[in-house]
Amino acid sequence: MAMHDDTTTLVEKGQRYYLPVYKPRHLILERGQGSRLWDIDGREYIDLAGGIAVCGLGHCDPDLVAALTAQAGRLWHTSNVFYSEPPVRLAEELVVASRFAERAFLCNSGAEANEAAIKLARKWASAQGRPPERRVIVTCHGSFHGRTLATVTATAQPKYQAGYEPLPGGFRHVDFNDLDALDAAMAAGDVCAVMLEPVQGEGGVMPARDGYLAGVRALCDRHDALLVLDEIQCGMGRTGPLFAHWGDGIVPDIVTLAKALGGGMPIGAMLAGPKVAEAMQFGAHGTTFGGNALAAAVARVVLRKLQSPQIVANVEAQSRALRDGLAAIDRELGLFAEVRGRGLMLGAVLAPVYAGRAGEILDLAAAEGLLMLQAGPDVLRFVPALNIADDEIAEGLTRLARALRVFAGVEA
Ligand SMILES: *Cc1c(COP(=O)(O)O)cnc(C)c1O
Repeated sequence: MAMHDDTTTLVEKGQRYYLPVYKPRHLILERGQGSRLWDIDGREYIDLAGGIAVCGLGHCDPDLVAALTAQAGRLWHTSNVFYSEPPVRLAEELVVASRFAERAFLCNSGAEANEAAIKLARKWASAQGRPPERRVIVTCHGSFHGRTLATVTATAQPKYQAGYEPLPGGFRHVDFNDLDALDAAMAAGDVCAVMLEPVQGEGGVMPARDGYLAGVRALCDRHDALLVLDEIQCGMGRTGPLFAHWGDGIVPDIVTLAKALGGGMPIGAMLAGPKVAEAMQFGAHGTTFGGNALAAAVARVVLRKLQSPQIVANVEAQSRALRDGLAAIDRELGLFAEVRGRGLMLGAVLAPVYAGRAGEILDLAAAEGLLMLQAGPDVLRFVPALNIADDEIAEGLTRLARALRVFAGVEA
């Protein structure tokens, strides 16, 4: 299909004026409803990417639009020098929903939430009289914690760090799901925190194995270290429960949230448990926009809706539908080594002969009217809205099958 002039013009402008750190597909999205999107040429797409696991309630959810527009006519921003109602209420609601936290720090993004967690862990250790060299933070290979210098150092993947040296010190990396490696990394007694994702997202949709988080908690207790869970991608109901670690029977010290928390409004949060809730006092940290009244007003509605029994049931039902559909495609085409993940955070790992070709599949999918993501070069990642409907999943799978037949060179 020939591209509309406006699309070509806008894509060229994007290529000309953006810092070239992205490579968006050649389409200009204009409008969304539920899990469907339309570009400026009127082409329709099924959205299984959800703005990178952000649009948990799809696009233009009427309750979110109402909350945003009501707040837009009232008050936008006060900074944290003054209180306003939405962020105060959101902080209370997050603390209550978390079942462990005593306080919340509201910010604007995932990286900022993790940066706050890293600083809080260091401040806590410093208050105990631990010298700087005994404030090491352990993170896992394959993790993703953000793009600021500290969080990209926590992100134990060389491709995100190359060229940004010198990196901040005080981080140590171990293999994910390997308790012996963690035990060894903590043996010197210089670790103040372990930070990890209960389900690794960018690193390939890799869940913690049964018992791993409990083992990490035990090691943290033994070595007097904090357990920091980055639930920025896997939290907010994406795996089923509101928090991904709930099934593991553990209590973390710090949890970070962002992505789906705002349903598309930029917001992040760091939740602090009893051990650390008082470790940062007046002046120790801050942010101008964090807890912005607009974002907080929307996040309150997101938090309420994502906890509803209908959403929890839908995540389970659509997860099964997506897995069944991927299994059927695989029976026909034999492309996947495995499908892994939890709830509506699923990864289809390409078979070794197709390794490195996830990006090609994304292009073919877009051409068939399906938006999806990869998690590294070998994994197709599905993180759709948690309220995605039966027909949207079914149509998405139909379009995926078409794209994959083209990819595999099979006649439709
Ligand atoms: C996306 C992500 C981040 C970073 O969030 P930004 O809002 O992009 O800064 C951190 N951790 C995890 C697990 C993520 O998925």
